[in-house]
Amino acid sequence: MTVDIAICGLGPAGRALAYRCLALGMTVTAVDPNPRRRWRATYAAWSDELPAWLDPAAVAATVAEPRAHGLRDHRIARSYSVLDTSRLQYSLDLAGATLVPDRAVSLDRHTVTLADGRTLRAGRVIDARGLRRRAGRPEQTAYGLLLPRSAHPEPSLFMDWRPDNGADPRATPSFLYAIPLNDDTVLLEETCLVGAPALEPDELARRLTHRLRARGIGSRGDEPVERVRFPVAGGVPGAARFGAAGGYLHPATGYSVAASLSAADAVAAGRSGWSPAARAVHRLRCAGSRALLALPPGDIPRFFDAFFDLDIELQRAYLSRRDDPIGTLTAMSRIFFAVPGALRARLTAATLGVGSLSHRPSGSVIME
Ligand SMILES: Cc1cc2nc3c(=O)[nH]c(=O)nc-3n(C[C@H](O)[C@H](O)[C@H](O)COP(=O)(O)OP(=O)(O)OC[C@H]3O[C@@H](n4cnc5c(N)ncnc54)[C@H](O)[C@@H]3O)c2cc1C
Repeated sequence: MTVDIAICGLGPAGRALAYRCLALGMTVTAVDPNPRRRWRATYAAWSDELPAWLDPAAVAATVAEPRAHGLRDHRIARSYSVLDTSRLQYSLDLAGATLVPDRAVSLDRHTVTLADGRTLRAGRVIDARGLRRRAGRPEQTAYGLLLPRSAHPEPSLFMDWRPDNGADPRATPSFLYAIPLNDDTVLLEETCLVGAPALEPDELARRLTHRLRARGIGSRGDEPVERVRFPVAGGVPGAARFGAAGGYLHPATGYSVAASLSAADAVAAGRSGWSPAARAVHRLRCAGSRALLALPPGDIPRFFDAFFDLDIELQRAYLSRRDDPIGTLTAMSRIFFAVPGALRARLTAATLGVGSLSHRPSGSVIME
């Protein structure tokens, strides 16, 4: 039997796409080695990125005005939502889809070949198999502790670069991410935004412990831990790919879940998520990621001060708008002119992909 669509990969992107295809009355086959794997990661997104069809119960907590800290404190006038991962997964209900518990080994426009040798045919085939780790591919890593909310009564911190984590000032830097998961629990996570190689969990754990001690935040040592590691580059834009595999992941921030959720309807309806404007934004974002990798550690807090000084619409354009090259470029050029002159040459070289992309001794960078 030929179905309307075969979706390979049931992470947030593939599952959201399957769910929206079912809502359109399409016949759906979904292939994943473990289609019923429970998601464990904490997903969050800017509230205005989430699509109207999303079950409100999938949002666990909302922070009206998160803070950021570079060398200075910033209030971000944009609401931020933490998702309830289980509810998100189950709200993307796959009743009615045919689930195939196998690996897709090769895909073309209408055919999926499975590891067990079978082939599936479909009107359309979508690759939502995510991104694989690969040597030289930039990654984001983090190490977080889930603590009682009373442990961190301060406002939520989207990004806190204060240097109280004990790190060598010349080493790859990391920041603190502090968000409520619900009324009772807060996640405090030491994060390496992007690195090639990224910081290892042991180092991030050391830094988090140091930072919490410096702030008088106690931990018992047996709290639940969240470990984060995923590639932030390697996605290839194209109508037959979706989610991280399809270039929906922002290479300078690591966010992709909301972009995939909000694009699912258009892709389900057969439209390409890759207009010329979206392709231009993708190229600009990749250039932004190269620039981040090229920044000397000591200049990163200053760079984010310039970012969070931007008008909130420009912040939104850079972080979230996949179809706004003018907004993205305006945000990037405002940052460029706001940072000290000495940094501009480095940013220019990195953005254009000229010369060494990383100043770090261990940083070998392959941007795709
Ligand atoms: C702890 C943690 C926290 C995170 N927090 C956030 C966040 O707050 N916000 C955010 O936007 N992102 C976050 N991320 C990143 C986010 O998880 C990924 O970018 C996102 O999962 C990508 O979604 P995807 O569906 O495209 O790919 P994936 O989630 O990687 O899913 C790919 C799916 O394809 C399946 N698959 C793989 N190979 C095959 C094959 N050969 N055949 C069939 N199926 C296959 C896999 O089993 C998997 O189910 C976080 C990641 C981690 C680890």
